[in-house]
Amino acid sequence: METVTRFAPSPNGPLHLGHAWSAIVAHDLARARGGRFLVRIEDIDGARSRAEFAESALEDLAWLGLTWDGPAIRQSERVDTHAAAVEDLKARGLVYPCHCTRAEVAAAARKIGPDGPVYPGTCRDAAFVPTGPVAWRLHMDRALAKAGPLTWYDELAGEQVANPGLFGDVVLARKDAPGSYHLAVTLDDAADGVTVVTRGADLFASTHVHRLLQALFALPVPQWHHHALLLDETGEKLAKRRGSPSLFDRRLAGEDGRALADALRAGQLPSNLTFSRLANGGENA
Ligand code: GLU
Repeated sequence: METVTRFAPSPNGPLHLGHAWSAIVAHDLARARGGRFLVRIEDIDGARSRAEFAESALEDLAWLGLTWDGPAIRQSERVDTHAAAVEDLKARGLVYPCHCTRAEVAAAARKIGPDGPVYPGTCRDAAFVPTGPVAWRLHMDRALAKAGPLTWYDELAGEQVANPGLFGDVVLARKDAPGSYHLAVTLDDAADGVTVVTRGADLFASTHVHRLLQALFALPVPQWHHHALLLDETGEKLAKRRGSPSLFDRRLAGEDGRALADALRAGQLPSNLTFSRLANGGENA
């Protein structure tokens, strides 16, 4: 089977070195296997997405010497399919409306999951009829019963037993977007024919939820490749908020993007950065 990978940035800010590494891993993996490398701009967060960040991201990738197959895909063009999938789950009684705010969830939660406070189920049995926009949450117990036991395979960490219950009743449709990250990324990876989902190890646990959604929608099951993250001197992953230099800044300063990509490939990181360990204890890609 042909290998298809993708890099799927959210255009909420400029790309940094961590994004560059993620794109290089996905690109090189596809090229090494004679497959295809796709770019998908995950621009469904209307409040945070900006067209100029999407444009700049594509210029950054070209500057790094990466090539992708076909035009960049825009996730915002898929929102109808995201909405239709939620309607399907509504009809099957697998989602329910929730009006709780983030602050209410944080205050009422009794557990912390991979994404933060686990929703305690406040609206699960409330049976209210929404009059305005609300979030729709997966009824995790029913979904787990429907799907049965599941496993998934990470190329670096090996076979995993899916444990989506860690997340509780996750949001699948947001008040302000037809699909949440978990829903949109799962549907779109299937729509794009992705066979190896490459992304940072910080999203490792999310795959438990994605595997469950694949089962509920009878989607093909890819493999995963969760690569190491670039960490800064405090041991935290690079984040735009923390002021790490953007690729845009480097490009504007006249730096050679191809040389930078080759240095990362060779494990030559700027002196303040290190690679995180992987879920299986190993390092690097
Ligand atoms: N759009 C997500 C992000 O930028 C990544 C999605 C994924 O690779 O699964 O964090």
